[in-house]
Amino acid sequence: MIRIELPSLIFIYLYLSVIVIGGLWFFDGWRSQKRKKQALRYAVRCTICASIFEDKTNELLPRCPRCGSLNERRNFGGL
Ligand SMILES: [Zn+2]
Repeated sequence: MIRIELPSLIFIYLYLSVIVIGGLWFFDGWRSQKRKKQALRYAVRCTICASIFEDKTNELLPRCPRCGSLNERRNFGGL
């Protein structure tokens, strides 16, 4: 039987929880950031009525669902 002293056991336990929590936090942040980027990729802001809508088609000029005008596709990157 391997004898581990209590203080080192607590240390190992804390060390592992920090790794697990840190890993989960990092993974969650990375995932939400990816989701945000993906959502912004399809976001189009209407130049006429300023409404932001989602367009997943590959049309060069997506049509605004609110006022029906054609919009230029612009990147929302940098947000
Ligand atoms: Zn519009």
